[in-house]
Amino acid sequence: MSAVNKKSLFYAIALAVVAFYLVMTAFYRWGDGTPPQITLVEPFTHAGPTTPLILHVEDTGTGLQEVTVRLVQNLESYTLAQEQFSAQSPLSIGGGAQDTFDLNILPFGDDTIPKRRGQVSLVITARDNSWRGFFEGNWARIEQNVAVKFTPPRLEVLSSPLPVSQGGAGIVVYRVSDDGRRYGVRIGETFFPGYPNPDRAFSAFSLFAFPHDDPASTPVILVADDGLGNHAEQRLDVTVLPRQWRSRTITISDRFIEQTIRPIIAQTPELEDLDDPLRNFLQINNVLRKRTADRLTALATSSQPEFQWNGAFIQLSNSQVEAAFADHREYRYGENVVDTQYHLGFDLAVTKHYPVEAANDGTVVMAEYFGIYGNTIVIDHGYGLQSLYAHLSSFAAEKGEVVSKGQIIGRSGMTGLAAGDHLHFSLLLQGVQINPVEWWDPRWVQSRITDPLDDPLRKNDAGRMRGPQTPAPPNRMGPPPPP
Ligand SMILES: [Zn+2]
Repeated sequence: MSAVNKKSLFYAIALAVVAFYLVMTAFYRWGDGTPPQITLVEPFTHAGPTTPLILHVEDTGTGLQEVTVRLVQNLESYTLAQEQFSAQSPLSIGGGAQDTFDLNILPFGDDTIPKRRGQVSLVITARDNSWRGFFEGNWARIEQNVAVKFTPPRLEVLSSPLPVSQGGAGIVVYRVSDDGRRYGVRIGETFFPGYPNPDRAFSAFSLFAFPHDDPASTPVILVADDGLGNHAEQRLDVTVLPRQWRSRTITISDRFIEQTIRPIIAQTPELEDLDDPLRNFLQINNVLRKRTADRLTALATSSQPEFQWNGAFIQLSNSQVEAAFADHREYRYGENVVDTQYHLGFDLAVTKHYPVEAANDGTVVMAEYFGIYGNTIVIDHGYGLQSLYAHLSSFAAEKGEVVSKGQIIGRSGMTGLAAGDHLHFSLLLQGVQINPVEWWDPRWVQSRITDPLDDPLRKNDAGRMRGPQTPAPPNRMGPPPPP
């Protein structure tokens, strides 16, 4: 073959390759008739300061050429995003390099867009690198109306709450506008949700508890949120009565640890025997105690929104008080103080294996071996109020069973962290331990809970005239508590 011929052949092959390439590109670019796909990952029909706009744009054919996101209000347009994606060479087979585009922003998080209530339009457009439409590409477009809102829900207090004791409970009746999604009372770190008032339309109420270990100066705040980031707060004019808690020293011995701790470890799969009496005691008195408290908080979230209880709660019949609510306990082992805890509940003793009565009407939501509490029953009384019966020797009620006040639900014992046969009784509101003494007192229940709920204004005035009432002391304070 001559040199000229060789050269001609080379050009012919090169031309063929280029031609093939152009044909393929054209085939590919003309062939992509599918526009990009725009997806709103979260609905965006109602928006406020904290509503995110999350969208995903995708083009699996020739790739994205451009995406624009705008809000239009009163003929003014605000560009939230505008992206041009650099295409590869106009002749490249693949088109653009960018297949996807993601956006996650708070359009109203700052003052870029004027906070005007009303309707705005969200307009999203995207096009790909196809040669369809006279080389324009395939267009995709979403346009939708968005209701925007920058005002908080309105809160009106209908009852000035009566004084509340540290560790005690109270109620507030109020009105919240229709846009309120989450509302209730906040004290320190604790939130007590509100519920629609079953007997009175257009009003809500919150039962709340002043945690025993929050300083009396902690504000009691009524809050409401519309779910869009608009938040209302109103400090309640509640007098908090400070309480002094008793102090007790408890001496623990190796023998006590051996007798009580080993069965707890054996029945609590997540604990392991640390092979040291003191370390075993501490993991139960401390770590397991905290874990049981967390589980009780979780249990409260499934409380039924209805009043299942009726009138005052009852203290275990014929019982003697061996330990009271929020006794501060110092645990002594040998010469050293090894732990301190609050005793949250009442220790009530009668005789061994004494029949234990339900303190009020309700539904059994737990009947099982439960950490430091041993064999335990929890009764849900509705609206976050629950009673707990611990250290039982036997059960006489099952989970799910509806029980009535005074019904025998088990027998007292010393399972769990207990040195002698007794009933440990706790009352909890949204998982927060509260002082049962108040709820054992019919006058307190009537004046502080039932009356304000029935008729917030009238009874409140009456309550003010009577002044703060201190609940009657519990029956018979006994000798210092066993561990
Ligand atoms: Zn106890």
